[in-house]
Amino acid sequence: QIIENEGQHLNEELARVHILSLTDELTELPNRRAFMRRLDDEVGRVQRFGYPLSLVLLDLDHFKSINDIHGHAAGDAVLRNFSINILTIFRHHDLVARYGGEEFAVILPNTDQNGAQRALQKVQKKASATPYHYNGRTSPMPTFSAGIALYQPGEPPSSLIERADKALYQAKKMGRNRIVQGDNGGDAEVSQPG
Ligand code: GH3
Ligand code: MG
Ligand code: MG
Repeated sequence: QIIENEGQHLNEELARVHILSLTDELTELPNRRAFMRRLDDEVGRVQRFGYPLSLVLLDLDHFKSINDIHGHAAGDAVLRNFSINILTIFRHHDLVARYGGEEFAVILPNTDQNGAQRALQKVQKKASATPYHYNGRTSPMPTFSAGIALYQPGEPPSSLIERADKALYQAKKMGRNRIVQGDNGGDAEVSQPG
């Protein structure tokens, strides 16, 4: 009986540690490791079934200045607001992950670049209507820049990420607060909020 209880306890502990290892503590979003796993799975599925798959990389604009002006805890409040109240507008089967400090990745299965673009426009709208609260003060959210890449048959996950990252870099370089569709052989397309 004691051994059985111990075994049960260990299994529960193991499951808890497993979830923790895939979750970002601050935002409670899947972390980069969870993202990489899911991307591998989705790329595998697309190879077999051939539906469109889009990847979005999204980075808050001038986020460092929030930390610098209002303190690190205010920056944390921004990240939590963005994760819990804004990025939750994505569909249930999309995966939204914290990719790095103030950078997020979204995997959109069965979605082409235009669908991803429309989803991001909704995020822009939601973000501008969802201020964050910190220390008794209510402030508007920072804008974000985003890059979209559409999966190209046969490419490894790393190349899809690289193309989304290039598109994000373009968005930053062109002045931020915009969405750039990555290069799939044609020219990049840019959109700014209405
Ligand atoms: P850009 O528009 O070019 O993206 O400028 P930026 O200021 O957003 O980007 P930069 O890379 O210069 O700064 C990112 C900052 O994010 C620096 C880092 O200290 C901060 N950061 C990273 N992780 C966290 C976190 O968990 N909490 C807080 N408060 N800040 C964080
Ligand atoms: Mg940034
Ligand atoms: Mg960044």
